[in-house]
Amino acid sequence: MPQLKSSPRTCDKGHIFYKSSNCPVCPVCEAGKPINYTLWIGLAAPARRALASKGITNVNILSQFTEEEILALHGMGKSSIPLLKKALVIAGKILGKRAIQLNKLTNNC
Ligand SMILES: [Zn+2]
Repeated sequence: MPQLKSSPRTCDKGHIFYKSSNCPVCPVCEAGKPINYTLWIGLAAPARRALASKGITNVNILSQFTEEEILALHGMGKSSIPLLKKALVIAGKILGKRAIQLNKLTNNC
């Protein structure tokens, strides 16, 4: 079967959705999941998924990443950064300042 740019997928529960990447996450199922990281509730769903894919579920974990690393995540846009920074400020934290080379993020979603 040829890889189309945006092909219809069907998840285990029968939802049909379209993705241009190889990301297997069903947006319908994803939307039904409880949001346990309410600090960034204003964030777009792809950005939240990007964070979740790296296990970033709270500001403590988020603060260990640099802005560059966060921006490199699939689904994360520049507009999401101010929201994340706001969440960090509320928690009294800042984004990581360590060297970017550490734990170079891979992205297979
Ligand atoms: Zn689904």
